[in-house]
Amino acid sequence: MPYSYEAPVSQTLFDRASLVTPGGVNSPVRAFRAVGGTPRFMVSGTGPYLNDADGREYVDLVCSWGPMILGHAHPEVIAAVQDAVSRGTSFGTPGEGEVALAEEIVARVAPVEQVRLVSSGTEATMSAIRLARGFTGRAKVVKFAGCYHGHVDALLAAAGSGVATFGLPDTPGVTGAQAGDTIVLPYNDLGAVRQAFAAHPGEIACVITEASPGNMGVVPPRDGFNQGLKDLCAQNGALYISDEVMTGFRTSRAGWYGVDGVVPDLMTFGKVMGGGFPAAAFGGRADVMAHLAPAGPVYQAGTLSGNPVATAAGLAQLRLLDDAAYEKVDAVSREIQALVTDALSKEGVAHRLQTASNMFSVFFTDAEVVNYDDAKKQEAFRFTAFFHSMLAQGVYLPPSAFESWFVSTAHDERAVERIAAGLPAAARAAAEATA
Ligand SMILES: *Cc1c(COP(=O)(O)O)cnc(C)c1O
Repeated sequence: MPYSYEAPVSQTLFDRASLVTPGGVNSPVRAFRAVGGTPRFMVSGTGPYLNDADGREYVDLVCSWGPMILGHAHPEVIAAVQDAVSRGTSFGTPGEGEVALAEEIVARVAPVEQVRLVSSGTEATMSAIRLARGFTGRAKVVKFAGCYHGHVDALLAAAGSGVATFGLPDTPGVTGAQAGDTIVLPYNDLGAVRQAFAAHPGEIACVITEASPGNMGVVPPRDGFNQGLKDLCAQNGALYISDEVMTGFRTSRAGWYGVDGVVPDLMTFGKVMGGGFPAAAFGGRADVMAHLAPAGPVYQAGTLSGNPVATAAGLAQLRLLDDAAYEKVDAVSREIQALVTDALSKEGVAHRLQTASNMFSVFFTDAEVVNYDDAKKQEAFRFTAFFHSMLAQGVYLPPSAFESWFVSTAHDERAVERIAAGLPAAARAAAEATA
């Protein structure tokens, strides 16, 4: 094998990091706890590749968990950032860049009539929920098990992503009062939502859902599920919040809305729209957004909201994301999906590859995965073996069986060939793995 498992420089950095930072990382899934081993410390990225501190190159199938849809260090995004940065990094006043980014979002996503920029997806969902509560005068929030909406207190009940990876049913530090108004339901189950509305008449402010979940692995909505949620919300005076932090501007020009056309009352964005910088947003119906300060009474603010460097990066990235770009991402995604399925099938590994346009993930199980309980039934130990084999062969996968894989316009033939070359041994490792 061209790559060894040893990563001495990363190990040294991780030891240093662990002294000054809890667990050695600034976001839990980066720590490799689910798969074991030393997290790789990256020093640079170009196109579809990441380079670690030990001088090894990897094909990147994480893409910073979604944002890097044009690949790393895209020259036009870098130029926009350099241009913005040379004019100063933060003014604490309005600026044209944030207007242009808001206009781009409104132009792409029809249900968004007005939008407020923030700095993280967590802030976006937290603020959208506050606004929904303020608008409706109601307290309760419906969310789905396995859906992750950032680390908002009220939404950390049965969440996906790192919470899924670590199997925490809940997290210490979130009080009963903070989570007590959260109703957690099984995903893809409209009957459960109907029952919740019947059990709590006039109390539910909103239903929040990932537009197409990617934080328990990829578990797309069943036909009619999102429309059903929208209709139940409308019938019961609640708002339908579609969290597109992951899917927004990734699964199509207009995100998942561009795929299923269901019109939410509020939407949240992040990841791709920041071009690799901390920029996120929430938006939707103008009459609802009008309740937000300073136009209305629901308070929300941010020192670095609409930051000129972040908005320049996001705008540059979105402007490059035309139909041809999405066709390219979709095509390379399909190519990689086919390679993965073929390799696992050849080794007789039970698996299900699930997709949501160019997002995809592999569940190590025979059965269809429609909710979080199904996802948890997979043989995650097979993923661990598969992951480490691919890593050793220069392919960087998400270090958890409960995360989407991401590709970019920069994933070219050479990158795909590296993946293809690594898959037979990784599939064999998955086949031979024991719990
Ligand atoms: C990543 C993500 C978030 C949180 O965004 P951060 O920028 O990490 O705070 C929220 N919702 C979904 C669907 C996400 O994938």
